[in-house]
Amino acid sequence: MDAMTGAPSETFGLHHELLTLHLRHTFTIARSSEDIARTLLLRVSVDGLEGLGESSPVGRYSESAELVAQQLDRVNLADANPWHFDTVLDRVARDQRGAMCALDIALHDLAGKRLGVPVYQMLGLDPALARQTSFTIGIADIETMLTKAREALHLPIFKVKIGKGNEIETLEALRSVYSGTIRVDANEAWTPEQAVKALREIDRLDIEFCEQPIKAGHPEQLRFVRERSPIPIVVDEDCRTLEDIAPLHGCVDGINIKLVKCGGMREAVRMIHAAHALGMKVMIGCMIESSILCTAAAQLTPLVEYADVDGPLLITDDPYQGVAYDGAQLRLPDAPGLGVRPRSAA
Ligand code: MG
Repeated sequence: MDAMTGAPSETFGLHHELLTLHLRHTFTIARSSEDIARTLLLRVSVDGLEGLGESSPVGRYSESAELVAQQLDRVNLADANPWHFDTVLDRVARDQRGAMCALDIALHDLAGKRLGVPVYQMLGLDPALARQTSFTIGIADIETMLTKAREALHLPIFKVKIGKGNEIETLEALRSVYSGTIRVDANEAWTPEQAVKALREIDRLDIEFCEQPIKAGHPEQLRFVRERSPIPIVVDEDCRTLEDIAPLHGCVDGINIKLVKCGGMREAVRMIHAAHALGMKVMIGCMIESSILCTAAAQLTPLVEYADVDGPLLITDDPYQGVAYDGAQLRLPDAPGLGVRPRSAA
């Protein structure tokens, strides 16, 4: 590498492998249920240093780990300059956000390692402002959900998946044992009328906000729900990339950004500022994913109001460690780059 120009003097290497992560409990949301998650691990190497990236694609956005692997195989990085993030990421097709995410994270990790600073420092962020994460409780029968809640009573924020009916009884039961903050996520389950009715009913249970009450793609229906709901509305499936934000102005109270949905940290930062400029709150979320992706997500939480970065808490076999959980408080590693390392070397 030429230190002055950053031009690569040896091959910009790209290697990927698939990871299978096993869930602690079967994870059920309004539209699906799973026991394992498949993610893609990406290694980018330049001049003997390696950046780690990950992608946790889901079928909701017509992506899979296998598809992302094929997409990355077609990315031509010959003559690419790893300091020029946007130029490198432009070599991935605009609609291949899962592939873009893995590459974006690996570039950030690599750059931090080459500079000898953590990614949050590269971005000018104060790690003391990292957020507390919510702890997700998937859909199950009420007794099972109560058992999961009792195991996590020391955590200050629950995100409860709902939308398969009996949500009122479920939330009443949870509220009877838990006095912390409760957010709910309906994952597109309701019609606008059902959403208004349900949200008015559960308002007495002190719900912080409701994520994605209705099917994505209908901002005016979100506005209808928001105008009638006593509970603030945050969207996830409705807000994938930067272009999705402006049409949601006035229709929602906030957005949930996930790195694999939007294409990585660089796009996420653009989205955070756009949303704030339009008066929306921002949550940084995650899929079922290892500590690589969740550590990248955690690095951005000093910029936002809410965090839902509990992926590593939901799986039994995370091969990496990075972000630490002090109860719910996210603690960013102070090692260069993402600060992620293999768990076996811990
Ligand atoms: Mg969601």
